[in-house]
Amino acid sequence: MPKEGFAVITLTDEAFKRAKSHYRMKSKKGLISKNISFSRFVTELLERALENDSQISQIEPLFRKLGTLNDSIVVTDRSNQIAEVKIIFRKKGAELFCVLDKRADCAHVGFAYSTPELYQFIHLKRKSQDLAKRKRHPIRLSALSVI
Ligand SMILES: [Zn+2]
Repeated sequence: MPKEGFAVITLTDEAFKRAKSHYRMKSKKGLISKNISFSRFVTELLERALENDSQISQIEPLFRKLGTLNDSIVVTDRSNQIAEVKIIFRKKGAELFCVLDKRADCAHVGFAYSTPELYQFIHLKRKSQDLAKRKRHPIRLSALSVI
């Protein structure tokens, strides 16, 4: 039984692990105070998400994300135009390009920058590039010293 004034919810193992990992990462980086418990962290995160969601649901969105396609984010606007925003990976980061407008600075691109999928794409791309580098430059065992 939870303490008075508290309730218990059930999360999937995956959601719990993600939240715990996020909490640990922010704690390690000093982004949250050490006296903030995991439970309080999740409660505050949920409250902020609910506040944002209720504000967003009161206005008609200018853009909506339809999904992702290879290295692209597909968005639609108020005019129901569907725009594919391509992610072009460079040595230092990524650039976006709207196929519909043939520009890198239209509103579709601006919206794509606000989607979490963009940052997931970039993260996965960096991971795969790191793996490729390791394959090209394997660690030489002879270079390691044994204590
Ligand atoms: Zn566009």
